[in-house]
Amino acid sequence: TEELLLQSEKLNIAGQLAAGVAHEIRNPLTALVGFVQLMQQGMSNPKYLEIMSAELKRIETIVSELLVLSKPQAMTYKPKKLADILQHVVTLIETQAIIHNVQVLPSFDPDELPALECDENQLKQVFINFLQNAIDAMPHGGDIHIEVERTALHEVLIHIRDQGIGIPPERIEKLGEPFYTTKEKGTGLGLMISKRIIDHHNGSMQIDSEVDVGTTISVRLPCFLQGGIV
Ligand code: ADP
Repeated sequence: TEELLLQSEKLNIAGQLAAGVAHEIRNPLTALVGFVQLMQQGMSNPKYLEIMSAELKRIETIVSELLVLSKPQAMTYKPKKLADILQHVVTLIETQAIIHNVQVLPSFDPDELPALECDENQLKQVFINFLQNAIDAMPHGGDIHIEVERTALHEVLIHIRDQGIGIPPERIEKLGEPFYTTKEKGTGLGLMISKRIIDHHNGSMQIDSEVDVGTTISVRLPCFLQGGIV
């Protein structure tokens, strides 16, 4: 039954996605077809190439984010130190943060953090998504705090807290729907992909937000237990 459930969940998501993908990719494709036709008729303008290149880039972004979705079956789980993962992610996002006048403030003691049995690259992708969203939410800059708690249940709770624009309550329920975005250049795939990856790690995520105060994303993940002792 579990296998069946998994399959129907996959189909459901596939259906939702198919509708969204068709829509999202069709618009830039229609524009591209139009410009190619104009150019075939001898009309040319450097602006056309600029638009075409932007539309191609958009298709490329959507397709490469969708590829991540097809990957979870091929995930490889290995024990990795959470501190190393978080520190690497902070390094990766650093230039983006500086450009946007954002300070990333990790407030955990690396020696206190456990290892997780995880697909390292997928988890990094998750944290990068959350940090990028936090940066996007602070157009005038601000701080991002990363805090980690250990719970009694051999789990870690990782909080990523920003001081951004926040999310109104009526929009919170829309989050994670494919292609739901409030950004001009957004794809609306980041949260959905992140949730899928966290699910595959037997974890969960929660979003708490207050308009004009900020947003906290909390990720709960099981720790790696040597020899599987609980
Ligand atoms: P994208 O970033 O491409 O829009 P996501 O799935 O990552 O896609 O996010 C969907 C939407 O959720 C965003 O467009 C934004 O409206 C909202 N959101 C996500 N994280 C935050 C945050 N930290 N602060 C405010 N809004 C957020």
